[in-house]
Amino acid sequence: MAEELFVCKSFDCYLMKIKNYINGELVDPASNTFLDNINPSTGEVYSFIPDSDERDVELAVRAAAAAFAGWSNLPVAKRSDILLKIASLIDLNLDRLALAESVDQGKPLLVSKTVDIPRARDNFHFYATAAIHLSTEAHATENTAINYTLRQPVGIAGCISPWNLPLYLFTWKIAPALASGNCVVAKPSEITPMTAFLLSEICIEAGLPKGVLNIVHGLGSKAGAAIVSHPGIHAVSFTGGTKTGEWIARTAGPMFKKLSLELGGKNPNLVFADCNFEDAVKTSVNAAFSNQGEICLCGSRIFIEQKIYDRFKEAFIKRVSTLKVGDPFKEENKMGAIVSKQHMEKILSYIELAKQEGGKILYGGKQLMLDGQNKNGFFIEPTVIEGLAYDCRTNQEEIFGPVVTLTPFETEDEVLQYANSTQYGLAATVWTENLSRAHRVAARLQSGIVWINCWLLRDLRTPFGGMKSSGVGREGGFEALRFFTEEKNVCIKL
Ligand code: NDP
Repeated sequence: MAEELFVCKSFDCYLMKIKNYINGELVDPASNTFLDNINPSTGEVYSFIPDSDERDVELAVRAAAAAFAGWSNLPVAKRSDILLKIASLIDLNLDRLALAESVDQGKPLLVSKTVDIPRARDNFHFYATAAIHLSTEAHATENTAINYTLRQPVGIAGCISPWNLPLYLFTWKIAPALASGNCVVAKPSEITPMTAFLLSEICIEAGLPKGVLNIVHGLGSKAGAAIVSHPGIHAVSFTGGTKTGEWIARTAGPMFKKLSLELGGKNPNLVFADCNFEDAVKTSVNAAFSNQGEICLCGSRIFIEQKIYDRFKEAFIKRVSTLKVGDPFKEENKMGAIVSKQHMEKILSYIELAKQEGGKILYGGKQLMLDGQNKNGFFIEPTVIEGLAYDCRTNQEEIFGPVVTLTPFETEDEVLQYANSTQYGLAATVWTENLSRAHRVAARLQSGIVWINCWLLRDLRTPFGGMKSSGVGREGGFEALRFFTEEKNVCIKL
């Protein structure tokens, strides 16, 4: 854990000061100013984040440029060894990282321990080994020539990630970028910087050569924007909101940077009457409220075939009523805090909007006021709403919180129209025991990912990403390694 502590003037207590990781060292930002980092389950400032700007990004890019020749020319097996060491150190520090993630993000400790941190380890493990197996193509031009394709690292990659699955999504970008020989300048969300900071300590311990990975903390509008617009950064991999993605595309597009954009979602969950009812109810509750509904893949619009609507609604609410919300560190709590006050207020405003649009709150609907150390924390009850038109704002805009709507449908065509009606196209779930229907509906859904009779069942080899305003490009498997490399065709005349 970081050693430097200093006195927090406002609270007269010792709080940790997070540092940037540039050129292999933990350093203060050029501005020497810091932002408050708030623990969402207590509402209190518990550490400070560098308020970095373009000067820090400049230093990071210079460090990355100086490290590039050494790193990209290292045999892939050697790069792989170092990344595997990082994976092992993440594993060794699992408890510490999980604790840090839950304090920073508000999610239940059990979720950090069983989902976020293991997945961060797996990301490094997966790409450390995948890079060894990346192959390229050859084309024999009959009696004339042989063409072969080289895949070379793009150079310096910019990786920017959001606050909902902090280390999980941060490493999902960094690991393939590094494995394929790039140097990286990365920025985690300013709202959840802690595990990225702890990762920089792990990278030092693992012997990652200096400058290969640089982590610049701070605001998206300053540090993030400086990464996107820096001419020395050749590819930008971004996960976050659609609006931010739009700005990034507008800025990086004219500079001809490679772009991977994983953006928002408003995912439909289609429940047909011929489903396995118990599975559909249980998994739909998980899909709606896991991580407080703050997963881009959460199923926030549930469409239920009319024949089973009332039965499903009753069973769904019964199950939701068993979800305890509260202190992320108490094992009985299945939902923790919302990531920030600002985000909590946004979610609550959408619940108000739903009421104005004619929605009936079937369960929850309010901020949850707790006591003790959580009395100033940001908690919202799991909220279930019915009676809304499929095309109202509540059903079209991303809320990204513990809010789900229930809507009945009669026919396959009707539910497909509802499901495909938003600007988004990230993920969808279908519940049916009818194999033909499953294939038919999957093919017609406008989604980058379709789960049949399951949710969030992930295989890291599969392409991951969205259609329409949910993004551009795909992560996962060899897709990410292809994104972080440039193809070059070499033609040899026979
Ligand atoms: P934001 O778009 O606000 O931020 C994402 C990251 O971008 C943060 O690090 C942020 O920094 C940074 N950023 C903000 N503005 C800029 C800018 N102008 N230039 C460069 N970087 C910038 O998203 P959230 O953090 O609020 O995350 C929630 C969103 O992420 C939701 O829409 C969700 O659907 C989406 N998401 C998508 C996923 C997918 O795979 N498709 C997965 C997970 C989330 P800062 O925090 O300082 O603002």
